[in-house]
Amino acid sequence: PLDPVYDRELQRRTVTRETIEAGPQSIWRYAPLLPVAPPEDVRLPVGWTPLVNAPRLADAVGVGELRLKLDTANPTHSFKDRVVAVACAKALETGATTLACSSTGNLANAVAARAAAEGIEAAVLCPADLEPEKLVATAIFGPRIFAVEGSYDDCSRLTVELSFELDWAFVNVSLRSYYAEGSKTLGFEIAEQLGWTLPDAVVAPVASGSMFTKVHQAFAELRELGLVDTEQPRFYGGQAEGCSPVAHAFESGEKLKPVRPNTIARSLAIGSPADGELAVSTARASGGAVYAVAEDEI
Ligand SMILES: *Cc1c(COP(=O)(O)O)cnc(C)c1O
Repeated sequence: PLDPVYDRELQRRTVTRETIEAGPQSIWRYAPLLPVAPPEDVRLPVGWTPLVNAPRLADAVGVGELRLKLDTANPTHSFKDRVVAVACAKALETGATTLACSSTGNLANAVAARAAAEGIEAAVLCPADLEPEKLVATAIFGPRIFAVEGSYDDCSRLTVELSFELDWAFVNVSLRSYYAEGSKTLGFEIAEQLGWTLPDAVVAPVASGSMFTKVHQAFAELRELGLVDTEQPRFYGGQAEGCSPVAHAFESGEKLKPVRPNTIARSLAIGSPADGELAVSTARASGGAVYAVAEDEI
């Protein structure tokens, strides 16, 4: 994984709580903290989703206060709209005419919708045995869908190989560092919606580990810029038992061993997670953990 380097001095001088609060109600309110300029004409805006109180769930798990970040309120109902909006802004800047990805479903949907909104082509590679409902939702936006006889990890390897040959903008290969930065907006929003403070603990699902680690980096950045002065929360990751290489690495203390996924949580079925080791060290350093959830509980 590549992490961009920002001009922190410039950010410190120009980004305040007030300048952010005066921005649009979308991820682009954090534009000075992102690696690409907002598109001139913002279509299908994403982000600024509700952070709601869930008192009954708080009681059930035995904590004082618990909030849910409802990223289903994004245009295609997952947080993938955030990462695709940032990667696509870069793709448009380079003049790309096809937006592409490998996907376990949600990313394909976000890529297809974004390409349709921007008037460019989309090409998505998914495992052939994906839930048909997911493919139907994606097909509505008119992308080219390639059904790959294999797992997500096979799709992923294929897109890496294709990225050397085609001039398609692969959001999670060639544009991955832009894509990953888009996840930070989830962390920025949580802090702002909590009145520029951080929670005591964060619980998040882990597939490649990108979102989990980027939310942590987002909080670190806000602290560095003096926009929040609360301590970092504990980070808890959740995986499905049928695909839990990160949870296993956390528990065993050993190097991450890739697995062949067998889980009903298809969105999280990444057996060889790119940011898995980083997710383990993020959880550990924050005083949190990564757990596997039993399939029947899911
Ligand atoms: C993509 C995705 C995640 C997290 O993915 P990472 O690869 O770990 O960034 C979590 N939940 C859902 C539903 C997703 O689609």
